[in-house]
Amino acid sequence: MNLTASIYSFLPAPLQDALCSVHGYSTSRLRYHGSFQQYREFLNSADKVSAVDSNLIYQYQLLQIKRIVSYAYRFSPFYSKRFKEIGFHPEDIGSMSDYSQLPFTTKDDVRENHALFFCNPFRLNVHTHSTSGTTGTPLSIHYSEEAVRFQWAVWTRHRDRFSFPHSSCHVNFTGKPVSHSSRIFHNRRAWRHDFFNKQLLIPMQSVTASNIVQLLEMFRKYRPSYLVGYPSIMCDFSSLVHDLDKDHLSSLSSVKYIFTGAESLGVNQKHLLEATFQSAGIYPQYGLTEGVCNASTCELGTYHEDWEFGLLDLCPTDSPNTYEIIGTNFFNLCMPMLRYKTGDLATYDPNFNCSCGRQSRSLLSIEGRIEHPILTPEGAAISRGDYVFKGCHGLKKAQIVQISLSQVVVILRVVNGISKQTLESRISTQFKYYISQSMSVSFDYSREFITTVSGKFMAIVNLVGD
Ligand SMILES: [Zn+2]
Repeated sequence: MNLTASIYSFLPAPLQDALCSVHGYSTSRLRYHGSFQQYREFLNSADKVSAVDSNLIYQYQLLQIKRIVSYAYRFSPFYSKRFKEIGFHPEDIGSMSDYSQLPFTTKDDVRENHALFFCNPFRLNVHTHSTSGTTGTPLSIHYSEEAVRFQWAVWTRHRDRFSFPHSSCHVNFTGKPVSHSSRIFHNRRAWRHDFFNKQLLIPMQSVTASNIVQLLEMFRKYRPSYLVGYPSIMCDFSSLVHDLDKDHLSSLSSVKYIFTGAESLGVNQKHLLEATFQSAGIYPQYGLTEGVCNASTCELGTYHEDWEFGLLDLCPTDSPNTYEIIGTNFFNLCMPMLRYKTGDLATYDPNFNCSCGRQSRSLLSIEGRIEHPILTPEGAAISRGDYVFKGCHGLKKAQIVQISLSQVVVILRVVNGISKQTLESRISTQFKYYISQSMSVSFDYSREFITTVSGKFMAIVNLVGD
């Protein structure tokens, strides 16, 4: 836990609300100021064009590809070196099929050459996010301020499709432990309030059987009209609601819209949310921290490529109609990434045309997460383990395996020469902060990673009860 988080945990709940509001104000300024409104208007106009003209989409994307490839060739140390090694010049790209001949960029490329991916010749403001997601490979991604605003304009365009009340009270299911408090104050409120954004924050650490009744009271009092956040945390919440009397479902009747993101939404997860929030429509979108591409659902529930933002390409797998998503960002001048292998799988049928009329590439589904949750002695089921690896440089791959209610083993692969003691200390501290203060954490550098029968990697494996 850093000093700021430590001081925060000593504050009483109303002061934590105030700090959440200040933080909400500053993130809003980053996301929604400057060029944001122009991007939003452009995207809403382009959404109409995409219903009539597939050639325009092709020409736009080809232009953007030529532009970002030339930029990467000139300014990205990684791509300058790679292109010279393979004898490629940006002028070699005359069509999309020329572009598809370029080698993929893998997560290992980014991890092993991280400093070479960063470039900032125009001295833009830079923001950095960390990810590990479902792959267990922690990465830090740098964005220009404009790239952040374009990304938020894409997400806002998705919401604009459903004419929903942007400025109304809503709930954010977050992984950040915003209601964390020291034992001195013993704050009993399980949620926090960002007054600036009219946002009620429910952290995953608070989604427990002992808190569920007060969380439902919060819904009754504030009547939020929509939800945003991780679907896995919403589902953990939903499971606990279903353990109660059915009458409690009426507390959730104010919710009319659910916007999920950051993770793909599995079919079973969708059914659970539908059974819990019975008055709400569910509108998922697909994106990833790397920001290389995005797809948002239309009014008919089909995922459409957000073609203005990046190129969402598909690479065939051994399974019929199943493709790996390959992304190229168009606007992140601080960290261009070309033909990036996301590791995410989508179902695609080239003969399918969505009845909404959009000519952009449409996906039938995106594979849902198959992680198990970590069950904590405090009663939470934590599905997001990636926070534990924040800022852990030198870590190649990691998997959290829960072997008893009070104990996890972290299986690690690291680069040579790093201090294992420092790494273990950081992971243990972050585990206590984000997951549970009472569980013990041990480390194993040689054990094989556990996968599903089909070989898919899982960031969290729970062996309790096996
Ligand atoms: Zn559609």
